[in-house]
Amino acid sequence: MTDVLIVGAGPAGLSAGIACAQHGLQVNILDEFTLPGGRLLGQLHEEPDGSWWNGMAEAKRLVEQAKNLGVHIDCGVSVYDVAKTETGWRVSTTRGIIEVPKLLLATGAAETTIPLPDWTLPGVMSIGAAQVMTNVQRVKVGNRGIVIGVNVLSLAIARELQLAGIHVDRIVLPARNLLTKDSGNPEKVMQSMLRLAHLAPSTFIRLGSKLIKSEAMLKLALSFLPSSGIRMWGIPIQVKVAALEIFGDKQVEGVKIVKVNTKGEPVLGTEKVIPADFVCIAGGLSPLVELAAVAGCPFAYLPELGGHIPLHNERMQTPVAGLYVAGNITGIESAKVAAAQGTVAGLSIADEFGKLPEKKLLQTAMKKVEVVREHAVIQFDPYIEKGRRTISSMYAQQNTGA
Ligand SMILES: Cc1cc2nc3c(=O)[nH]c(=O)nc-3n(C[C@H](O)[C@H](O)[C@H](O)COP(=O)(O)OP(=O)(O)OC[C@H]3O[C@@H](n4cnc5c(N)ncnc54)[C@H](O)[C@@H]3O)c2cc1C
Repeated sequence: MTDVLIVGAGPAGLSAGIACAQHGLQVNILDEFTLPGGRLLGQLHEEPDGSWWNGMAEAKRLVEQAKNLGVHIDCGVSVYDVAKTETGWRVSTTRGIIEVPKLLLATGAAETTIPLPDWTLPGVMSIGAAQVMTNVQRVKVGNRGIVIGVNVLSLAIARELQLAGIHVDRIVLPARNLLTKDSGNPEKVMQSMLRLAHLAPSTFIRLGSKLIKSEAMLKLALSFLPSSGIRMWGIPIQVKVAALEIFGDKQVEGVKIVKVNTKGEPVLGTEKVIPADFVCIAGGLSPLVELAAVAGCPFAYLPELGGHIPLHNERMQTPVAGLYVAGNITGIESAKVAAAQGTVAGLSIADEFGKLPEKKLLQTAMKKVEVVREHAVIQFDPYIEKGRRTISSMYAQQNTGA
C-alpha cells in the first residue's frame, strides 16, 4: 500500500521520495516523460570553480538511490486529476486511479514563449526544446541559430548548444511591446545580465560588472555599449538589438533584426536580415501549477517566484490537508534548490506519519534550502528571497486567520 504519491520525477520529486523512503514510507513517483530526472536530464554547465554540473549524472545518482530504497518510479504516466477524499487523495492517471493518504506535487515549470511574426515555421522552437533535443534526444537542432531573449536560461542553453558543436550566431532581445515587457527593455535586461556575470569566462566582463554599482552607472555603461554587444564564450549577446520577425518559406531562413536605443525603441533604417536555419525563443519560465489548482489549493501571484504560486510554508505543506509541493512548482529556482526543497517535503511527510526520529532533521533540511539558495550559481530572479518571505507570511496569515 502506497503511503505517498509524488507527481514528477525531477530533482524535487526524487529527493522527496528518497527522504520518505529513508523513513520507512512506501513511495510511488509518477512522471509523464519516458525517463526519470525531469529537467535535470538536459543540464550541463560549468560552475565558477571550474567543475561541471552534469544534470544527467545527477539524475542517474538520484534515481539509483531512490530505487535502492524501494521507491517505485513509473514513467510515461500522466496525472490529469486529483480529488480530496475522506482518507487522502484520489489521483487520476493515464494508467488508472490511485488512492493515497499523502500527495506531493513536484511538477516543475513550463516555458513562456514570445509570439513573433512567423514563429510557427519549422525550425523555430523554445530554448528548452533545443536543450532537450540536444542533450536528451541527441538531435541536432540546426547548423546556425539565433536565440531571441536574453536571460539566464538562454545563456546557459546557448552555451550547451555551442558545446554540442552547434553555431549560435547571436542572442538578441525580442522587440519591446506589451507582451515582451521587461524582456524587451535593454536597461532591465542589462541589470539581470550583471547578476549572471559570474558565469562569464572573461575576467573583463566579471570585473566590469563589479564596477557598475549604481543605476546611473548602468545607464552610462549601456549608452556606451556597442550594438555588436558583449561576447560570452564567443557568442555575441546584443542587448541593443531586437528581433522584429522570423522569416522563411517552408522552414526558417532567418530573422529580421533592428538596432534599438537604451529604452528598446527601434532606430529607424537599421533593419537587417540575418540568415539562420533554427531560432530559439526564450521567454522565461513559470511554475506548472494546474494540479494544485484542481486540488483546491489557494494561490498567490508573486512575479519574483515566476507567477501564480500555491500557498505553502517552509515545510512544503499547503493549507490543504495531505497536500505538499516542492521544487519549481513553488517558484523558479535552480535544480539544487529544487532538490533541497524535495528533501524538506519528504521529511515533512515522514514527520506527519510520525516516522521522523528527530525534529532536528527537518530544521537542518530547511536551513539547507536557504544556504543552497544563497550560493546558487543560477538565479532566475534577484528578488527570490523576498518572494519566499512573502509566501511564508501569507501562509501564516491564512492559517491563523489574521
Ligand atoms: C526547459 C527548462 C530548462 C531548464 N534548464 C535549467 C538549467 O539548465 N539549469 C538549472 O539550474 N535549472 C534549469 N531549469 C529550471 C529547472 O526547472 C530546475 O533546475 C529543476 O529541474 C526543477 O526541478 P523540479 O523537480 O521542480 O521540476 P522538473 O525537473 O521540471 O521535473 C518535473 C517533472 O514533473 C513531470 N510532470 C509535470 N506534470 C506532470 C503530470 N501532470 N503528470 C506526470 N508528470 C508530470 C515532468 O515530466 C517533469 O519530469 C530549467 C527549466 C526548464 C523548464
